[in-house]
Amino acid sequence: MEKQCFYCKKELDNEYLENKVGYFCNECHYDKYLKNLSWQEYVDLQHSFCACSDD
Ligand SMILES: [Zn+2]
Repeated sequence: MEKQCFYCKKELDNEYLENKVGYFCNECHYDKYLKNLSWQEYVDLQHSFCACSDD
């Protein structure tokens, strides 16, 4: 399956940024993606990162 940038939806080649959120062309698109999220989406994202539960 082709990887796509979560921000611009461009297909990614060998050079891309991979992190907990997903795949991005570069850090710039990662940054823009985060800024486009609503607060609630951002919070949900943070929750999905945390495998450890501290409740
Ligand atoms: Zn991109």
